[in-house]
Amino acid sequence: MSNITFTMVKPDAVGNGYTGKIIDQIISAGFTIKAMKYLHLSAEQAGRFYDIHRERSFFKDLVAFMSSGPIVAAVLEKDNAVADFRTLIGATDPQKAEAGTIRQLYAKSIDANAMHGSDSDENAKIEASFFFSALEIF
Ligand code: GDP
Repeated sequence: MSNITFTMVKPDAVGNGYTGKIIDQIISAGFTIKAMKYLHLSAEQAGRFYDIHRERSFFKDLVAFMSSGPIVAAVLEKDNAVADFRTLIGATDPQKAEAGTIRQLYAKSIDANAMHGSDSDENAKIEASFFFSALEIF
């Protein structure tokens, strides 16, 4: 079990002005910020990040959405980080997310669902190094 996960505040949540509230909720839940940056992905970069979904029907929509506006990318630390963070953000489809989770509070639909959270320790490492060099993680 690793203590690192990777997250993005997605373009819908950034555009709707929820970044501050979401970061506050993450810190209040016991996560420490190890790295953070604000950036606007190109379609090519979003496609590379979501390469695992390339064959899925929603891939094109996902890439268009993730490159539609700026995001906040971060590396977070906590015991049991991957599982605890996925509990904090709630189900992929915000209509099915538990009350009080970030997606239930701030997301409107399965495609514009406010947050990304790594789904395994291995992917957390891959995703963190997609965005951050060793010099940028503290
Ligand atoms: P996650 O780990 O909860 O983010 O979910 P997945 O790894 O299954 O999917 C990655 C992302 O693809 C989700 O967060 C959504 O933004 C998007 N996505 C998943 N399913 C759908 C879908 O049916 N339609 C659309 N448009 N996007 C989807």
